[in-house]
Amino acid sequence: MSLEKEKGSSILTNELLARSQRRIMVFYVGGTIGMKKNEEGSLEPCAQYLTREMEQMHELQSSVEIAPFDVIEYEKLLDSSDMDHTDHLRIARDIAKHYDAYDGFLIAHGTDTMHYTASALSFLLNNLAKPVVVTGAMVPLAEPFNDARRNLIIGMMIASNPKICEVCVFFNDSLFRGNRCDKVSHSYAAFKTINYPALGVIEASRFVLRERLLLSQPTGGMSILSDLSGRVMHFDLHPEADVDTLLVLLSKKVLDGIVLSVNGVGHLKGVVAAKARAISRTAAAHNVVVSVVIRELRGCLARKEAERIRHLEYGALAYVGDMCASTAQVKMAYLFGKGLSPTEVARQMPLNLRGEVTPIPAAPGSKM
Ligand code: ASP
Repeated sequence: MSLEKEKGSSILTNELLARSQRRIMVFYVGGTIGMKKNEEGSLEPCAQYLTREMEQMHELQSSVEIAPFDVIEYEKLLDSSDMDHTDHLRIARDIAKHYDAYDGFLIAHGTDTMHYTASALSFLLNNLAKPVVVTGAMVPLAEPFNDARRNLIIGMMIASNPKICEVCVFFNDSLFRGNRCDKVSHSYAAFKTINYPALGVIEASRFVLRERLLLSQPTGGMSILSDLSGRVMHFDLHPEADVDTLLVLLSKKVLDGIVLSVNGVGHLKGVVAAKARAISRTAAAHNVVVSVVIRELRGCLARKEAERIRHLEYGALAYVGDMCASTAQVKMAYLFGKGLSPTEVARQMPLNLRGEVTPIPAAPGSKM
């Protein structure tokens, strides 16, 4: 029997009724979203401001699409430009601490490294069965004209939706898989999804969730299996790149792995190819994992090109598919942080663990 009921002008469906029985935990960790202007007109963190506003915003309190919620504000508000794996781990552990008591989580966060945090949470929260929505704003809630209010309200609607069981970023008008987006501009549309469609968009006057694109419900219990302790460096390979310094680092064994951004496979006799071979030889000699990503934001190498990197010319280098460079760094730190061997980390880097990568396409004409 349908549980449809009239409440004011809204029709309460089974799912919406169920939302009022759910509960969301909000962590305000820092960022512009809750900042205020000081006397000189510069933005600065303002303790308790966002928390108090959220507790009073009638849109959050009275919408049938938003479950009741509690807010925990970090005592020292973090600027995301300074956040590292210790902070990512802290947020993951805070979610784990409240995981059984809440049905969804919203992280109010700075924009500068929001995509790193979302990626890190996507790997850390193994068997996640509830929505974790990361959002922020370019203009704080305290300003008369801002994107904070909308990002918060829609973010809370998404965090209240039981169909989602993954880490997402909501920003401007789109919901992105957390490990598939990047900050691309200093505007309201600061984030874009890379190599995977948006999980949801605002169409005309409503938010449409594309359910077929979502990760499916896991079977086991949620747990954190890594401390992100891998020592990973991102290195941009181009003709002027200072590879000699990198070779010194590799031979001193101060790194577990490198994410190497390249422009393409390159000419085998070229300067860049010679640098790549030197990196490969030294990394192999010191057991350092080298995962290759391409610098272009969209697209990926064909299988034949990927195999040229792996097997023929560069030995230890392995192309890991259409992952964002930021996601590749976080994933490598995650895999080493699980205590895996370099061989196992190299094997798992191109595998799809959390929807972060598309299997490498077959070369035209090849039998795959
Ligand atoms: N620096 C701020 C941060 O990332 C910028 C922002 O929130 O947009 O925390």
